[in-house]
Order: sequence, then structure tokens, then C-alpha cells
Amino acid sequence: MTNKQDCIFCKIIKKEIPAEIVYEDEDFLAFLDINPESPGHTQVIPKKHFRWVWDVPPVGKYFEVVRKIAQAQKKAFSTDWVLSKVVGDEVTHAHIWVFPNSDVVGDKKDFKENAKKIKNAL
Ligand SMILES: [Zn+2]
Repeated sequence: MTNKQDCIFCKIIKKEIPAEIVYEDEDFLAFLDINPESPGHTQVIPKKHFRWVWDVPPVGKYFEVVRKIAQAQKKAFSTDWVLSKVVGDEVTHAHIWVFPNSDVVGDKKDFKENAKKIKNAL
């Protein structure tokens, strides 16, 4: 189990590892997943290191950010169908997957373009 020091998401928050960031506020960060399920697949994480999503206070504020991203993806990729997953096994830092259904048009590996589309729709 990784500790805070070598947590990859904490490194993204500190900008020690580059990521295509689409949204950032005082408490939360959203960036594109490097192994996307579909174009614009985003991870939404708290800036403080929590192991599980259900540990994050206030979870209501967390989900407001997730909703914001989902609404932007709907617009950016012209779809009504945005999926989200809370699993928690890949990285030991709370994260919520938000991604449009895989039928949307676009290259899921074109991170720059997909980040731009989401940011423009926010
Ligand atoms: Zn972390």
C-alpha cells in the first residue's frame, strides 16, 4: 500500500507529475485519466490525501464538482450519457471516474483536445 509520499495523485496535485488538468479549486482537482475508457475520461480527486471517497468531507461539495465535470462532458462530447465509477483499488487516493459513454466521437488519446473541450464547456 502506497503512503502519502509516493502517492501519484498527490504528485499531480503538487504538479510534480504532469497531467491534463481540466478543473481546479481550493479543495478539488480534476484531470484526464492516462488510460481513458472514452474521450475526456476524467478523475476527480480531493487535494487532501484521503484513502477512500467516503472519507472526504464534505462529500456534498465533492459531488458538486463531479456534477460540474459531468455536465461539461455532456456538452463537450454531445451526449446525455455520462458514466461514473467509485472503485478505489487503482490508486490509494480517493478518486471518482467520470467519463462519457464510449460511443462519443473523438480520439480518447488526444488529451490536449479533450481537455480543451471540457474546459470550454465548464
Ligand atoms: Zn495522495
